[in-house]
Formats: sequence, C-alpha cells, structure tokens
Amino acid sequence: MANLLIIGAGGVGRVSAFKAAQNKDIFQNIVLASRTKSKCDEIAKDIKEKLGVEIKTYALDANKKENVTQLINKENIDIVCHVALPYQNLPIMHACIETSTAYLDTALAETEDNPDTYYDLQWELDEDFKKANTMALLGCGFDPGVTSVMVKYAADYLLDELEEVEIYDCNFGDHGRHFATNFDPEINLRELNLPGKYWENGEWKTTKPFEIQVKHSYPECGEATSILIWHEELESIVKHFPNLKSAKFYMCFSDKYLYHFNALKNVGMFDIEPIEVCEGCKISPLQFLAKVLPDPQDLVKNYKGQTNIGVIAKGKKDGKKKTFYIYNICDHQKAIEETGAHCVSYTTGVPAIIGCKLMAEKIWWKEGVHNVEEFDAKPFFEEMDKQGLPIKVVIEIEND
Ligand code: NDP
Repeated sequence: MANLLIIGAGGVGRVSAFKAAQNKDIFQNIVLASRTKSKCDEIAKDIKEKLGVEIKTYALDANKKENVTQLINKENIDIVCHVALPYQNLPIMHACIETSTAYLDTALAETEDNPDTYYDLQWELDEDFKKANTMALLGCGFDPGVTSVMVKYAADYLLDELEEVEIYDCNFGDHGRHFATNFDPEINLRELNLPGKYWENGEWKTTKPFEIQVKHSYPECGEATSILIWHEELESIVKHFPNLKSAKFYMCFSDKYLYHFNALKNVGMFDIEPIEVCEGCKISPLQFLAKVLPDPQDLVKNYKGQTNIGVIAKGKKDGKKKTFYIYNICDHQKAIEETGAHCVSYTTGVPAIIGCKLMAEKIWWKEGVHNVEEFDAKPFFEEMDKQGLPIKVVIEIEND
C-alpha cells in the first residue's frame, strides 16, 4: 500500500488519477495537485462519479521545491508521479530527495531557455537518491517509457544479440482540427523543432529537422510517411545497450500537419527568444502560439481513430538473423470513454501508474536514479495487459 501524489492535471494527470483509482488496493491515499486547483477538482469529481473513489486535491506551484516538500510531508506521500511539465522535474526531484520519497516522471528535465537538454541533469542526482534510500524512475510514459521496455524485452527474451532498434510512433487519429498538439503545445513544438539525431556505428549523427522521411507500414493500421526525429529515450537506450549498432526514432505526420508546421516555423513562430510586441511588452513567439492553439484536452470532443507505437528490434537468435515488431494499438474513443482523455494522454498515464505500482510493490526497486530499461520487462508487460494497453509481438523476418 502506498500514498500517491500525482502532480499535473492535464490529460496525462487525468489518466494517471483514473488508473490510480482503479488500483485502490495499492494506492490507499491518492492526492492530485496542480497549478490550477479547479482542474484537479473536475477530475476528482469525474472519478468519484465513475469509480466511487475519493481523491484529495490541492493547488500547487511545483516550480518551488518547498511547496512540494510541504505537501509530501502533509499527506505522508510515498511516491510522487510527476506528470506536469518538464520544467518542474528538478524542483520535484529535490523535494523527493529531501523527504526520502520515490519519484517518477514521463519526460526529461528541460529549462525554459533551452529545449535541447539531456539526462545528465537528472542522472547526476543518483548519489543523492541513494543517500536518501529511495529511487527515481525516469521517462515512464509511452515514448519515453514503454518503447524502452520493449527494447529491454527484445534484448532479454527474444534475441541473443540485439543489434538495431527502430522506434515508430504514429497517431492515426483525427480530431477535426487543422493544427493542434496532443500535449502541451510549447513542450511539443520545442521538441519537433530540434535537429534530427540518431545512433549509428558507435556515434551520434545529426540531420536537419525533418530531413529524413520514410514510408513505413504500421501493423494493422497501414502506411504513413514517418520522419526521423531526435527523441530522448535514444540517449538512455544507447547508454544501457552499448553494443547497439543503430538506434532511430520515427514519428508520422499528416500532410495537413506538415503544411501548418512549416508555415509557422518559416515565419518564426517557434522562436523561444522574447520579442518586443509593444512598448515594454515582450513575449516569446512560441509561448504566444501555444496560447492560441487548442487546449489538448479540448480535442477529446471529436477524437476518432487509433495510435500505433512500437519497436522494430533486429539481431541474432540461435545464430539466425531475426527481426521482431513489438507494438501497441490504442483506440481514442475507448480511452475517452474510460477516462475522458485521448490516447496520447492514455498511453502516457497508464505506464506512469504501472511504474508507480511496480515501485510500490518493490518489484521494480533499486535506490538511485534509473531508466525503465534497467528493470525486468515481463512484470511491466503483464501489467500493460491488465491495465488496458496490451502489447503484441510478431516475428517479421527470419534469415539464416
Ligand atoms: P498538459 O499541458 O495538458 O498538462 C500539464 C499540467 O501541468 C497542467 O495541468 C498544468 O497546469 C500543470 N502545470 C504546469 N506548470 C505547473 C507548475 N508550475 N506546478 C504545478 N503544475 C503545473 O500536458 P499533458 O497532461 O498532456 O502532458 C503532461 C506531460 O507529460 C507533458 O508535458 C509531457 O512532457 C509528458 N508527456 C510524455 C509522453 C510520453 O509518452 N512519455 C507523451 C505525452 C506527454 P495548468 O492547468 O494550470 O496549466
């Protein structure tokens, strides 16, 4: 049994709170805290109506470590599930160190002035977590998160030698809007505006943004143009599987999305540096754009279709070359019916709560700061089946 604090009341916070409430045997006290308390109250009301479970709510500015420490102590919290923004990772981690509380997040730490950050800011807290006799589980959403668990599963259970990894993420859903992001617009567009990067033959290679495009066939969903982008789990996967010859991440985008993306980028709307728009009034074009784009939660009204995210793992088994495709398909309508949030939130919140559950049960437990691929993939996949995100594994190619 554990007391759980969920920080963030967006789509991912909503799903995390629903899933925690569905696992009330593990999470005896569930607290939801975020910048805007009314959003927490709305989620708590929905959960009470649908599941009959009480959730406590608080207003919390998690940019200040002291606020988080205070709430952890007040509610005697054992695990913090951080699903607010990457700007809050470090203050929340420091609050966890101070109070010997387990920590989990779904995206790596960023600073407002620099979207190009790496795990070092969080990995360097390893000794502090060890001294506090507790642990941090980093990147436990879908990607990062499940994709790294898929790689670990391939390495431990499918292949003798894992040689190549390709991650493919495609949202085949349609929300009826011309241009919208599925999670926080500022965080999402900062990520997509970075140069592409991948691992090949022992070194990192960089591309211009959106330079490499392939046609990829997603199992059960069909073909889609997919673009090589930098994605944070590549850094931790390459660290934890040092013999990998290559690691790449592709995401698909519709032509309509790319048309708007390129137009906005070309006129400078993704620039982070604030510009003067009237006397004494400065604003970052990206932050302005984020304010006028739809709230990701509003997309649920008309969202239809599926997401398909998976890993192609290539290597050798018993001397033969083998290629496996490990993937999950999530249906927007089903996710909305269950939790009121679409698949992009659902596929992040469900793994986050599975991570919290495995930590609470000490099935995944190692003091210090860790990524998901450092733990056994089997209990995680068993939970994915039970919690609504079943994983499929198929052999694609087998050669002598
Ligand atoms: P939203 O933008 O919908 O929600 C973010 C929430 O964080 C909002 O409730 C916001 O409050 C709250 N928040 C912002 N600043 C603070 C603060 N200082 N203190 C407390 N709360 C704060 O995002 P999502 O729910 O869609 O996603 C959450 C995060 O999950 C994303 O930012 C992303 O990094 C990560 N993610 C990971 C994925 C994965 O697969 N690993 C996929 C998708 C997302 P307010 O309502 O007041 O704005």
